[in-house]
Amino acid sequence: MRYFFIIFSLLIIIPLALFAIEKENAIYVLPRGPAYSHIGLGAPKLENVYLKFGNRVKIEEEYSHGSIKWYLCSKGPVHFYLPDAFVVKETGGVEYDLKGNIPIGKEVVDKWHALPLEYKPTDLIPVPKEYRAYGYESRKLLLRKEAVEVFIRLIENAEKDGVNIRILSAFRDTRYQSYLYFNSIRRYGIFQNEVAKPGHSEHQLGTTCDLTTSEIGSTLSKDFEYTAAYQWLQDHIIQSGIFLTYTKLKGKAIGYMYEPWHYRYWGKEKWEFFREKYGLFLSR
Ligand SMILES: [Zn+2]
Repeated sequence: MRYFFIIFSLLIIIPLALFAIEKENAIYVLPRGPAYSHIGLGAPKLENVYLKFGNRVKIEEEYSHGSIKWYLCSKGPVHFYLPDAFVVKETGGVEYDLKGNIPIGKEVVDKWHALPLEYKPTDLIPVPKEYRAYGYESRKLLLRKEAVEVFIRLIENAEKDGVNIRILSAFRDTRYQSYLYFNSIRRYGIFQNEVAKPGHSEHQLGTTCDLTTSEIGSTLSKDFEYTAAYQWLQDHIIQSGIFLTYTKLKGKAIGYMYEPWHYRYWGKEKWEFFREKYGLFLSR
């Protein structure tokens, strides 16, 4: 009887284990493109493999080639090579319960941790026209409800001090991020550090904005650092639970460039923490 149970268990477990191994474990994140027959960006492309954003592939082997990581991948019976820059690994990320929105401030997203590619908060609402950058009024800018309120209050408080701040960019889904990422790769190569890989962008959270001001013609520019708006933000954002993600120091440390325009709202909890620690107050 005991042997029967052991054999019975094995019959159940072995197929489950095989299923787990068979699971595809990376997602192609460029809008579209060919796969390589060998390692190396100059290698011949495979005629019969053409991948699109969101295609799942299985990583069979990993190789380091110069400073690029390459994967031997398979999709069904076909094998091919892809550089790490073209895929997001499903493992290594954080497990989320996707039935709901991730609580604000609890999201883990950076160069090493990806959000699920299909993640899109359900409480996104449009940023009212008057808070969008001049010339971008027709843009569809979305943020999570709580974040919209916080950024609006910030912009209005700045206005009271005679400082103009407007929103240029807000929520981005991974498909749109894929186009931005692809364009940056096309311009600067796969070592580009301007655009985050789909799944790795804080813009997917719906709590992050790129800000600008009329002083620099409402553009996205490094010159934002030298504006009155930037100065004002440095004195006021923490009270709102908003933080500059890519500071000069941090940008260098994590391999992204310094972005004086990129601000993430971390939620009331983080603000409470700072208030307790430094005695800050939300309303001035
Ligand atoms: Zn940004």
